Amino acid sequence: MRKQTRAIRTQTDQSQYREHSTPLFLTSSFTFETAEQGKALFDETEEGNIYSRFSNPNVTEFVDKVCMLEGAEEGIATATGMAAVFASMAGLLKSGDHIVACRALFGSAHQIITQILSKWGITHTYVDATASEAEWEAAIQPNTGTPAARMVYLETPSNPGLELVDLAMLVRLKEKYGFILNVDNCFATPILQTPIELGADLSVHSATKFMDGQGRVLGGIVVGRADLIQPIRFFARHTGPSLSPFNAWILSKSLETLDLRMERHCANAFKLAQALEQHPDVATVKYPFLPSHPQYELAKQQMAAGGAIVTLELEGGFERVKAFYDALQIPTLSSNLGDSRTIVTNPFTTTHSKLKPDEKAALGITEGLIRVSVGLEAIDDLIDDFTQAAEVSAEVVKEKIM
Ligand SMILES: *Cc1c(COP(=O)(O)O)cnc(C)c1O
Repeated sequence: MRKQTRAIRTQTDQSQYREHSTPLFLTSSFTFETAEQGKALFDETEEGNIYSRFSNPNVTEFVDKVCMLEGAEEGIATATGMAAVFASMAGLLKSGDHIVACRALFGSAHQIITQILSKWGITHTYVDATASEAEWEAAIQPNTGTPAARMVYLETPSNPGLELVDLAMLVRLKEKYGFILNVDNCFATPILQTPIELGADLSVHSATKFMDGQGRVLGGIVVGRADLIQPIRFFARHTGPSLSPFNAWILSKSLETLDLRMERHCANAFKLAQALEQHPDVATVKYPFLPSHPQYELAKQQMAAGGAIVTLELEGGFERVKAFYDALQIPTLSSNLGDSRTIVTNPFTTTHSKLKPDEKAALGITEGLIRVSVGLEAIDDLIDDFTQAAEVSAEVVKEKIM
């Protein structure tokens, strides 16, 4: 059966009550029918649930679906996306290891690498998303005394720059040097891009975003090669970043519609990007599937569609941003993304405000940058609203200058 069908039909075994929808297993522990069974479950000669920090039917259903969508052998779900990112590193790296990461990372991933792993003697090198194969190779296998990379970690497309990393190129380097290739696939979702099927070892997600898709719950997951998931599972089982059954139940239900939602998200985002790119009051528009994107060819090659995130650049700095926000009628102002409701964010003053000026400049985060997480509203309403807000805010700023 095709993935779309399996995302809908994969389900926890029916109970004696013959329910159609998977019930919520809101239980912290599970019972043993006999003393022998308790022993067998603990020494792993029998497979089954013991305690919800280790596993739970709702969580397992969610993990099974994501593994299926990603083409992964095994997975482990966590309470948040950051717990998944951290477990994927802490479960596999040890003191003295080196991690090579793409510079364009989610803010907390940057903090884990620079402030937390560094306390345990795990060092790092950053590389630009658009660096050449030779530049990546020089960071992975340096001749400067820095250790060779044990893990390469990246996001593609990146937040908020929408820069792409060439996954096929990194898979080639991985085959040569044998590092663990760990990809944050949150922006693309397995509907648009499957890093593991392209040759990566691990794919991590903030399930909080498109997997939930309606801004309700936090969650995370890491899926990939069974021999790598094993130590990550050991780490998670004993340190306890477990996903709650309730959140897993929500997320598993949401995966039934992920394919359908991504199709509309991407169609809306593409149409909005096209409309605004032609508008004289919008300086620039960036979207992976617009031919004007510097990595358009790569986007077409490694993604099935351009995703739901569009960035706009407005002239006039923060004054313009304020006027634009005041004029917008439909979108919500929030730092989240991946919701059925369109959200606008000004990364310069919110999600990326802690970065130093040169770091912001290197990532293309200007004062007038607006990240749009395009939702599922009627596209003509979104185009009308963004267009009028671009026009009104341009007028407001012009009047202030005069
Ligand atoms: C939101 C996000 C995260 C963190 O996920 P949480 O669920 O908020 O912990 C990690 N990576 C990317 C790309 C994200 O957008």
